[in-house]
Amino acid sequence: MSHRESSQDVRRWFLRAIKDLWPVALGSVSLRKSPCIRQNCPTCASGKGHSSYALSGYRGKRRFSVYVPDELAPDIQRALEQGRRLQDFLKEAGVRYVRARKRERRSRREK
Ligand SMILES: [Zn+2]
Repeated sequence: MSHRESSQDVRRWFLRAIKDLWPVALGSVSLRKSPCIRQNCPTCASGKGHSSYALSGYRGKRRFSVYVPDELAPDIQRALEQGRRLQDFLKEAGVRYVRARKRERRSRREK
């Protein structure tokens, strides 16, 4: 089927493929250490600090980082996996779109 598909077919395939792809995210989730706001906190004083998850990455050249509560971390991990799948779909869509457009160009010329 992918040998004969038109650019509209590619569009339909792509929209169907990503329909249930939610949640999505790009970047990475990691544990980071940060001090708290309490005064004389023994954990901070010991140098151990408090670790919390953060979602971080780049938007263009700008780095972003947002705090992620512990209980949300698994969901954000899942969003990142889905985000990678979305990227794969985008790459595949580009290749299939180019092929379809070339085919359409060729058949128009033959007419
Ligand atoms: Zn502290």
